[in-house]
Amino acid sequence: MRAQPQASHFVAGAWAEDRAGAAFESVHSATGEVIARLHEATPAILDRALDAARAAQPAWAALAPVERGRILRRAADLMRARNRELSVLETLDTGKPLQETLVADAASGADALEYFAGYAPTVTGQTIPLGGDMAYTLREPLGVCAGIGAWNYPIQIAAWKAAPALAFGNAVVFKPSEVTPLSALALAEILAEAGLPAGLFNVVQGGGAVGSALVGDARVNKVSLTGSVPTGRKVYAQAAEGIKAATMELGGKSPLIIFDDADLENAVGAAMLGNFYSSGQICSNGTRVFVQRGLRDAFLGRLAERAATITLGAPLDEATQMGPLVSAAQAERVLGYITQGRAEGARLVCGGARVGETGAFVAPTVFADVTDEMVIAREEIFGPVMAVLDFDTEEEVIARANATEYGLSAGVFTRDLARAHRVVARLEAGTCWINAYNLTPVEMPFGGVKASGVGRENGHAALEHYTRIKSVYLGLGDVDAPY
Ligand code: NDP
Repeated sequence: MRAQPQASHFVAGAWAEDRAGAAFESVHSATGEVIARLHEATPAILDRALDAARAAQPAWAALAPVERGRILRRAADLMRARNRELSVLETLDTGKPLQETLVADAASGADALEYFAGYAPTVTGQTIPLGGDMAYTLREPLGVCAGIGAWNYPIQIAAWKAAPALAFGNAVVFKPSEVTPLSALALAEILAEAGLPAGLFNVVQGGGAVGSALVGDARVNKVSLTGSVPTGRKVYAQAAEGIKAATMELGGKSPLIIFDDADLENAVGAAMLGNFYSSGQICSNGTRVFVQRGLRDAFLGRLAERAATITLGAPLDEATQMGPLVSAAQAERVLGYITQGRAEGARLVCGGARVGETGAFVAPTVFADVTDEMVIAREEIFGPVMAVLDFDTEEEVIARANATEYGLSAGVFTRDLARAHRVVARLEAGTCWINAYNLTPVEMPFGGVKASGVGRENGHAALEHYTRIKSVYLGLGDVDAPY
């Protein structure tokens, strides 16, 4: 199994290598096999990427938006045409099953490119009548945007950042997670083939130090991070030092609230999707499943039955529904939380152990009788571990759902739609689902409140985060000077 790219970086429209950078490997976590060997970006590579981005951006911004859109649209078509190839690459790099990557990763990236390709030409300013004189506003790009990605949705994260940034006239330097370095390079190749001028989308490899070097560089105007809250605190602070615009897409411990009038099968299905899809490595997962006491036993019964049917196995086998965690280290971390859950007195309903001799597989795990103070109910586990908590009243569950520093997402299942809207209005979360969970179409803004982040990706809202407003006052009469 090899997925060796032509070189570690993609800079100024071409592959780039500097063997002076520290070597690192990308590993297929189902088997432990090394699939690629790369080098971290050196200061020389970063310099080239940032200079190329700065040099290319003004001419790109000066193009008619419809021309920028045409290139991005072509890239979306190329991504779709190569969906299988890109999905295999993503499966090798992340361990996620091909069954998922075929529909959720490159496909979502292509949607973003297509959406923002169409959005770019519709962006206009305002005219502001002032009674005689007038003013107008221009929407301008920010300049060079640094994108820093997490390892759970590598090509989707790269595309969700690149598409709006490029559509609105910016250049991008993107650093993927060192754990999943490969698919951002494939995106760079596709954008170049679609006709994106050199220097507008650069990929540089490396860990936190390379990310930090980008954030601190004076050539960078905006920073967009997808990552954990601790990293977000550091990156946001460093961006503030340079008075730079910042989007922070961070972690969560989201509540999924199931009232006892909910459709049982749908509620169970959503709870499983919201905890086991991508082996639970999704920021918006509903990892605190609050079930109203009247439905609790039926819910746990069906959940255990359906969880037992999940097919764990080799991620490249299309029949496999659940793969390994992204790395052996992540599997250890998740198993540590499972041990802690047991020690704290949560009741293990199913799973709870490693699966197989090799590979980072952890069984889909459900804990019942979880209480709010337990660590498994407070910390983001980022693995296939569901915590089920009981509740009695609407008022009580809203207070408990909000009693967390996080505020990424939330879900409500009930047949009483008036209650659903009433509850959602009071939940402290950036994205809420009613009788659905974890669907993130590109048309809908996505992002967190509280410690889960600032800014929004996708939807019309992304415009605010990749452009700035210039106000122009137009004097139409004489200047009224008192001296
Ligand atoms: P990390 O926070 O560990 O890393 C995120 C990225 O930041 C990586 O590329 C990392 O590099 C880089 N980084 C680390 N330190 C710094 C620094 N000081 N300056 C600049 N960059 C730095 O997150 P994970 O990769 O472990 O991803 C999991 C987390 O991401 C979870 O908390 C999850 O909730 C969150 N996430 C949020 C999403 C959202 O949209 N809200 C979506 C997906 C995930 P490297 O890892 O290479 O060292």
